[in-house]
Amino acid sequence: MIKVHHRAMNRTIQVDRIINHLEGSQPGPTVVFFAGMHGNESSGVFALHDIMFALKKQLVPIKGNIFALSGNLPALAKGKRYCTEDLNRLWDKEQIELLNNGALHHEHVERREQQDIYQTLQQIVTKQNGPFYFMDLHTTSSESIPFVVVNDSLLNRKFAKNFPVPMILGIEEYLDGPILSYINELGYVAFGFEAGQHDDLASYENQMAFIYLCLVHTESVEKSQVNYYHYQEQLAKTSINAQDIYEIKYRFKLNEKDQFKMLPGFVNFQKVKKGQEMAIRNGEKIIASHTGRVFLPLYQQQGKEGFFEIRSIHPFFLRLSAVLRKTKFAHILPFLPGIQWQSENHEALVVNLKIARFLTKPFLHLLGYRSKKIDKTHLVIKNREAASRNEEYTTEWNI
Ligand SMILES: [Zn+2]
Repeated sequence: MIKVHHRAMNRTIQVDRIINHLEGSQPGPTVVFFAGMHGNESSGVFALHDIMFALKKQLVPIKGNIFALSGNLPALAKGKRYCTEDLNRLWDKEQIELLNNGALHHEHVERREQQDIYQTLQQIVTKQNGPFYFMDLHTTSSESIPFVVVNDSLLNRKFAKNFPVPMILGIEEYLDGPILSYINELGYVAFGFEAGQHDDLASYENQMAFIYLCLVHTESVEKSQVNYYHYQEQLAKTSINAQDIYEIKYRFKLNEKDQFKMLPGFVNFQKVKKGQEMAIRNGEKIIASHTGRVFLPLYQQQGKEGFFEIRSIHPFFLRLSAVLRKTKFAHILPFLPGIQWQSENHEALVVNLKIARFLTKPFLHLLGYRSKKIDKTHLVIKNREAASRNEEYTTEWNI
């Protein structure tokens, strides 16, 4: 047990890895919430703690299982983003293999936390029944309206569209090792919710609204059992662009020893122009590289990304990409010149950009691929749809 404090609410609660677990009397989905993967983001921990308590006390009928898990316990106790390493950047393939093989790291606080969360997840996935839903609750250092951050699979998009907040697609291309990318690669619906600024009271209210809406949309709780329309309205009113879907165009990445200072006054989603002054790094001015909106400007000491730039995606392209992905057009890719499988397990393709010049990033996105540059002329691309367990999600939202 650790003590977690919320400054704005002036409240302290005690939590463990499993904040609470509710098991319904009827079969249904398994919904897993994480909060506090970053230790200075406690509003999700409070919201989960309070909702689970309320559901239990009010004897609300539940289908399936609801798990509320806390993330970085030692960092939560200190109110810091992390102690040694960012727990939400450790979930890459090599590290998962080490965890799988029992070759465990104990040298850092966060590696121990990761091992414990990994084992908790394994137990949930092996003991409980699907469909599984994983939601990761966060807050931001800058002032922000609430939004969802979604790895771009059609399954995720469909579920995330239920929430009246803007959606950001494709963050997995830019972040190394967030826990949700790992869970997505297992084929489950998994995405993040950002409720607002860390210490804003409204962030707690927004977390509450998102959690309740999730429980209804996953069909673990009946709409009539919670104040559904109130929560829907609460999130809808925070945003004038509730139905907008954005993609990330650019990330300003920070190196370990960089001295970075965002210029004051940027709020999340604020419009910026190409060339506009954004920040100072090591005494040098940093300017916006695209016209669009600034996303996640960094106003705290710890963090590896200074800011992102995003742009809205026209609905036509969203529909086009859904059609292209469903027709499995991408299956011809390995037969084209300049493209070959990276290894025998056919998980990823290597693209030689000198030969396959037609494979631009926007085109790859339409086909459902995400890409990482390995050198100047080669990309490794991975199909986002391949792992999706579409057949497990047969509820009404999955058209
Ligand atoms: Zn966070």
